[in-house]
Amino acid sequence: MNPSKIAQELQKKFPRLSIKTNEILAPYTTFKIGGPVEIFITTESSNQLKNLLVFIKTSYPRLPITILGNASNLLIADSGLKGLVIKNNSQNIKILSLNLKTDQLSPKKTISNRRTELDPEKYLDFSSLNYDESTKPQVLVEIESGAPLPYALAYLFKNKITGLQWFAGIPGTFGGATWYNIHGGTYHLSDFIKEVTTLNLKTGKEELFQAKDLDFSYDYSVFQKKPHLVILSTTLSLYRGDTEKARITAQKWINQKAKCQPLPSAGSVFQNLDSVLVKKHGFKNPSVGWIIDQLLNLKGKTIGGAQISPLHANFIVNQKNATAKDVLSLIELIKKEFKKRWNIDLKLEIKILGNI
Ligand SMILES: Cc1cc2nc3c(=O)[nH]c(=O)nc-3n(C[C@H](O)[C@H](O)[C@H](O)COP(=O)(O)OP(=O)(O)OC[C@H]3O[C@@H](n4cnc5c(N)ncnc54)[C@H](O)[C@@H]3O)c2cc1C
Repeated sequence: MNPSKIAQELQKKFPRLSIKTNEILAPYTTFKIGGPVEIFITTESSNQLKNLLVFIKTSYPRLPITILGNASNLLIADSGLKGLVIKNNSQNIKILSLNLKTDQLSPKKTISNRRTELDPEKYLDFSSLNYDESTKPQVLVEIESGAPLPYALAYLFKNKITGLQWFAGIPGTFGGATWYNIHGGTYHLSDFIKEVTTLNLKTGKEELFQAKDLDFSYDYSVFQKKPHLVILSTTLSLYRGDTEKARITAQKWINQKAKCQPLPSAGSVFQNLDSVLVKKHGFKNPSVGWIIDQLLNLKGKTIGGAQISPLHANFIVNQKNATAKDVLSLIELIKKEFKKRWNIDLKLEIKILGNI
């Protein structure tokens, strides 16, 4: 069926939803890159998201669906996307229980981080900001998947809840953050996740997953292999810690990140190297940005409107009306150099959508 017809039918069925056709996606992304999508719908609550998805799966089972959070980890093709994009704005936050005394709730930190403190003048330095909150009373909080991290952090601090200050300055939503298992400082989001509520698009039913069943690792969760699971909310085990200290830590971290993590971009382009590769090649640290800068001298390299950032070599910036193709050309150049010099196949941290 033609997309305009589907959009009309959906508008009739869901008169309160904002439904557009041929909407350009670039303004919805932090890269400011991306062509049109056939149908674009914004949902404002988990219920709206759920009802819409269940209806679409029964009425138009073959319609491709992409869920967007803040599109801060995405490179979208200039030719755009087929089917439907849902921009998820559900951002309700529920404080489920206060002052739990047990420390059984927190999953233990099991994923090794891939950060090494580098020259603090030039690179991000987390070591002076890190501290332990694990002896503080715990609080369970359920956050809807469209809630942006900066909004959630401000809400939690206002309610005297700490624990997520390490993720300050990350411009994503909780859906994207859970899908990717974001990292901040020496932490991963999974260090705090207790469970995740999803909608299963195959059955149309809600499903609750415990963190231990979600295969969290560096930049990975099981959701990357199971696109039929849409994340509705994430429940985290946080702390009644020192809110003032957490707020100051978050601000310091944001200030540091702002200096060397430029926009418009989609964050780090490549995953850092694992310890086996670092050891094998005798690299001083696992940071791909450091290698692109110090060993490949590619900082500042430009193709079309895209540039390897002079501030952070693992960031590509949309300097001047860059196309997705410009960005991809820089990605391919860096990959080729790693392959040629060290026979290393770099892994992308950003996700590419559509055909570039
Ligand atoms: C300046 C800058 C700094 C950054 N710093 C960091 C950092 O320090 N650490 C870090 O880890 N990342 C960082 N990032 C990358 C990015 O912000 C995170 O990965 C972020 O959590 C992505 O969330 P999002 O809402 O933007 O996801 P999107 O980019 O919108 O989506 C990413 C993927 O998740 C899927 N998805 C989104 N929501 C759902 C849902 N509800 N259900 C199922 N799937 C869903 C999408 O379909 C897509 O495949 C940075 C990015 C920028 C631009």
